[in-house]
Amino acid sequence: MLIDSYRHKGMRKSLVRIVQEKGIKDRRVLEAIEQVPRHFFFEKAFLEQAYQDKAFPIGEGQTISQPYTVAYQTELLEVEPQDKVLEVGTGSGYQCSILLQLTPHVYTIEYNEVLYQKAKKQFQLMGLTPATFLGDGSEGLPQHAPFHKILVTAGAPIIPKSLLRQLTVGGKLVIPVGDTATQKMLRITRVGEEEFTKEEFDNFKFVPLLGKQGWK
Ligand code: SAM
Repeated sequence: MLIDSYRHKGMRKSLVRIVQEKGIKDRRVLEAIEQVPRHFFFEKAFLEQAYQDKAFPIGEGQTISQPYTVAYQTELLEVEPQDKVLEVGTGSGYQCSILLQLTPHVYTIEYNEVLYQKAKKQFQLMGLTPATFLGDGSEGLPQHAPFHKILVTAGAPIIPKSLLRQLTVGGKLVIPVGDTATQKMLRITRVGEEEFTKEEFDNFKFVPLLGKQGWK
């Protein structure tokens, strides 16, 4: 059974203060962090780790992203309540649960079958209903495009053209791009059919994006 006690809520309030002190300002993002029980995505023994501002192993050589990174990417995405959002890299499902606080229209795709099945179960347990997919998200989700927002939660070697094509005009893609050691957070906005603008933000270290447009 999933229990969210006052102690857990208190730990989340402290986590919100930490990400706020690191520079996250968007009220709705901070509220989403406060709302989603991050410990639901951890084994019971790791409760303390759930509310530290750190990435943590989730098996299969993958990680649940650091809360600050989740908040940072979510803030850059500027999700509106009517937005249709694609997340590439479901992992534990935590980032997806944060996105679901901002819009009900969330699609999420995971490459690793074990993690995909685990996240699907987790969403069911929590009563959440994102559209979940198993497959290579480096190619996006063409059958459900276009998307107002696309968020990539693994480090990419390039900006995948297929993701650009799946944005609405006015849509935004937030993606860490670089080598396997560090990636720069980029925000690409589709300002016209064939026109895009690119903004650069801080450096991060993500696990690699695999697949055709990833590290293969
Ligand atoms: N968003 C996740 C969370 O909240 O737990 C964290 C994501 S983890 C840092 C990156 C995830 O991207 C891993 O689960 C990995 O299996 C997945 N991944 C890597 N390449 C992918 C691809 N081409 N398509 C979909 N998922 C991919």
